[in-house]
Amino acid sequence: MTKSVNRHFVPVRSYTHFSNDKNINDFNIEDMENCTVEQFAEMLDTLELMPYRNTNAAVAVVQKALILAEKLDNEELSQRTRLIQSDVMARQGKVAEAGRIMFHIHQWAEQNEHAHILARSHRLIAGFYRRVGDNESALQHAIAGLRELPDTAPPSTRADHLMMLALTLDEVGAYEDSERRFQEVLMLATLMDDTQLLMFALNNMAYTRYEMGQAEEAYRLITKLRELATRKHVELGASQLDTIAQVEILLGQPAKAEQTLAPVVNDPLSRKLGDLMVLPECLLTTAEAQRHQGKLIEAQATLDEARHLCHEHGLPGLMVRALLQQSELYAAAGDYRSAYEEHKRYHEAGEKLRSSEREARARIMQIAFDAEEARRDSELFRELALRDPLTGLHNRRYIEPYMDGLLEESFTQGKSVTAILIDLDHFKTINDTLSHQVGDTVLVHLAKILSLTAPSSSALARIGGEEFLAVLPDTDAAEGLRQADKLCQAIHSADWSSITGNLPVTASLGVSTMARVATNRTELLALADHRLYQAKHSGRNCVVGDSL
Ligand code: GH3
Ligand code: MG
Ligand code: MG
Repeated sequence: MTKSVNRHFVPVRSYTHFSNDKNINDFNIEDMENCTVEQFAEMLDTLELMPYRNTNAAVAVVQKALILAEKLDNEELSQRTRLIQSDVMARQGKVAEAGRIMFHIHQWAEQNEHAHILARSHRLIAGFYRRVGDNESALQHAIAGLRELPDTAPPSTRADHLMMLALTLDEVGAYEDSERRFQEVLMLATLMDDTQLLMFALNNMAYTRYEMGQAEEAYRLITKLRELATRKHVELGASQLDTIAQVEILLGQPAKAEQTLAPVVNDPLSRKLGDLMVLPECLLTTAEAQRHQGKLIEAQATLDEARHLCHEHGLPGLMVRALLQQSELYAAAGDYRSAYEEHKRYHEAGEKLRSSEREARARIMQIAFDAEEARRDSELFRELALRDPLTGLHNRRYIEPYMDGLLEESFTQGKSVTAILIDLDHFKTINDTLSHQVGDTVLVHLAKILSLTAPSSSALARIGGEEFLAVLPDTDAAEGLRQADKLCQAIHSADWSSITGNLPVTASLGVSTMARVATNRTELLALADHRLYQAKHSGRNCVVGDSL
């Protein structure tokens, strides 16, 4: 899965690529404070393309633009800005809410005969339908989005509409028509000397060829992509590397594929935060590359890590791919019975996924069209009830009974259990100075960092606004403290600049361990909470645990 927009609709949330991180300060909206209506309109031409190119950075900027638009008291500019915000929301996974805004603004544009907003809303609605898996409707809106676009629209906007049309044409199997649009995007991007757009287009074109099984043509395109990146001194993002690796596997070069993804897979926390969003895909591709080389033990370890992340973040779509991988890995090891069993599980999970997707789609459409809420008693909603919709992590309702069971079992077996409470420092400042939406983005990335850093045997949950809990089975106080230090370190050393600019993101952690005595959950958490409080008081960005 490596196109610029998720191909498979994943219920719960699907974090579409928070692509190429760029610094938040690159787009200086502060300068717009006293701008005229004309200047603001011109700024929106650029801002409209920002969510697609850099979702993380767009969050704060769009929020500020909304305030400015209100100040200018100009309805047309407000509608345009709100439409951009709906695009950000959709990319953050708030698809239903975003769709609802898009349809409202679309109606407004029709009534007010506003060509630009009409064209933009068609374009975004196409993206909405694509996310919910309705490719026919997506195509119709993508066509209208290009047709309605005024001749005066900037070339970058035209390229954006062409790209959406190319993607939707591709989705319905109209490859030749799609190819023609992609070529037009390439031409415009070359004319504008827009490296990022060129890279997006080449990546998507390569993936299309890959899907069609045209390995040679796909390889030609990824070679161009690589050369371009080298020439322009731009680092390829995880999703582009994943495309390259998949093509290399198709070409029978699994060792090369493994090497391509090594920087992402081996040290994900040292990379741009946006790369964390595609890490599970990269792990699955790496596991496949390792299997093809006969490195079955490595492949199993990589696959375990991928499955762990899919489980932690509630990614059923990818989990299906992981089950297929597992089955093939068993087969490669000659264990045909397990391979068969796993293959059955893969089919069942696929069936279940398709039916949850149908349900989720129906519900999203109902919300988007203001219809009554969908019924809440389905299986999907039972699963959702145990998850936090923002981060996809489990919530309190899940972790509490899990912890009770674990503590009881561990006590009987004479094993220790460690609880780590994690609370962001001065999170209010992030919300207040940037925005609540930026705060949400921080929480989403924090969840990824935690699940990546915590041992895979641990369970994670978001138990409050900006409070998370990690439960580590069979972990004594010393090891618990070490793991908490690792988490603390991972949080503050991540590069948050694309999301929060100059504001640092750190957390305080409180650790408590049950050893020997039959501590219950309440006591264990109360002690961790007390230590968290101590960590806050000793200056934050630190860990307080058992003083051994
Ligand atoms: P401290 O270092 O003492 O923990 O300071 P703090 O500002 O993080 O602490 P406090 O507990 O006073 O504030 C937590 C803030 O988290 C308040 C609330 O607005 C915010 N918050 C809670 N849930 C969410 C959420 O889902 N999204 C966002 N963006 N903010 C949230
Ligand atoms: Mg708090
Ligand atoms: Mg806090």
